[in-house]
Amino acid sequence: MIIGAGFAGMRLAQKLANGPFQVVLIDRYNYHQFQPLFHQVATSGLAPSAIAFPVRKAFHKTPNFHFRMAEVEQILPEKNVIETSIGEIAYEHLVLATGADTNYFGNKSIATHAYPMKPCFCEITFCSAWKPP
Ligand SMILES: Cc1cc2nc3c(=O)[nH]c(=O)nc-3n(C[C@H](O)[C@H](O)[C@H](O)COP(=O)(O)OP(=O)(O)OC[C@H]3O[C@@H](n4cnc5c(N)ncnc54)[C@H](O)[C@@H]3O)c2cc1C
Repeated sequence: MIIGAGFAGMRLAQKLANGPFQVVLIDRYNYHQFQPLFHQVATSGLAPSAIAFPVRKAFHKTPNFHFRMAEVEQILPEKNVIETSIGEIAYEHLVLATGADTNYFGNKSIATHAYPMKPCFCEITFCSAWKPP
């Protein structure tokens, strides 16, 4: 079980493809996002769809791979279970590849008023909200 379909989770799932075990990848979105180009989307240089692609498409020829779109809410290691927005899912081995949040370096004002670049739909908000001078 891998939580997170970012660079790390996708790469690990690719490495484990076609192995003699089941690989379950979970993410709150059903698409992978290429973060190094977030700023291009934020400034309307690219459409969000240009830097995102469906996770299932990347693995549609991989028989031992399964994708679940869900928010992981809690991990219960004593039961080998994760609690998610679509219910409990059991695992044998768990890999956390959930990335990082935007760091405001403790500045509450920026956290309140700025638009973060993660995730993509925030950039859409940014594009809609920003009015050229
Ligand atoms: C603007 C920008 C520019 C960058 N430029 C570069 C660059 O030029 N070169 C470079 O090497 N790196 C660059 N990086 C850094 C690079 O993109 C990150 O290091 C990399 O994406 C981290 O990968 P990750 O798999 O650890 O996490 P992420 O890619 O953040 O993936 C984490 C995944 O976990 C999912 N997730 C998190 N929590 C949950 C939950 N509770 N339930 C379900 N799913 C969850 C998220 O939806 C996400 O899909 C840049 C980053 C940004 C933001």
